[in-house]
Amino acid sequence: MLRFAAAVLIVVLCAAAGMFFLANGEKAARPVATYSYSGESVKNAPHVLVLNYHKVDETPISLSVSPADFAAQLRYLLENDFNVININQFYDGLTGQKELPKNAVLITFDDGYKDNYTNAFPILRQLNLPATIFVITDFVGQKNYVTWDDLREMAVGGISVESHTKTHNSLTDLTDEALKEELRASKERIKKELAKDADFLAYPTGAYNLHIAGLVKDAGYKAAFTVKYGNADGDSNLYAVERVPIFHTEDTMKSFRERISYTPLFSGNGWEKN
Ligand SMILES: [Zn+2]
Repeated sequence: MLRFAAAVLIVVLCAAAGMFFLANGEKAARPVATYSYSGESVKNAPHVLVLNYHKVDETPISLSVSPADFAAQLRYLLENDFNVININQFYDGLTGQKELPKNAVLITFDDGYKDNYTNAFPILRQLNLPATIFVITDFVGQKNYVTWDDLREMAVGGISVESHTKTHNSLTDLTDEALKEELRASKERIKKELAKDADFLAYPTGAYNLHIAGLVKDAGYKAAFTVKYGNADGDSNLYAVERVPIFHTEDTMKSFRERISYTPLFSGNGWEKN
């Protein structure tokens, strides 16, 4: 019933959005996604559920998921026909170079907190699952953040280390020059420390616009991640990829199950992607 109500709500919202965009003229040329409204066929369409974590520890804040909950969430994915992929498989799949597995999931961490190394990494290793960590390069090695040695060990253990910029300043607040420096310097530092290219970026606080997305592309990144709620699929802007944030709540596992199962409904029914 809830599902049906949500679908109806979305249809109404999309109809309203469609009228707006047509009246506005800007979006008229872009076809709206054509998945069915049941939610079921969307689940079978090629898409990636990109999970966004921050801290994995016992701090009583929404951005901290406990290690026990984190482990339970990963086991839930494994037991429910989800396929955890790494960020290169994500890119190859969304760009059509390789086939995505059914119900693909990409696990991402923002900010590079120390607990990602001490708490999350051992659980990922134990279950043999890949993940991606977006680090703020000026913060690496500071109190409560991972060190470059941690990251080198994680990289060997299946964790992709990518950029969350140099200083975590909101990119929408910066001049083009300062913004370009954030993109360039963080990429360069990761290359120097880990001898690998940082091909992917997560926008600090999720703030971006299409001008910024263009500069990210010009800086040599292959894709960039927002905090827009939804699944990533063939309609996604590669420089504004949707994610699903995972929070600590009153009932973290229940929230987790709801978040990951309702996402196809939200992203498949003409939700505008830009
Ligand atoms: Zn951040």
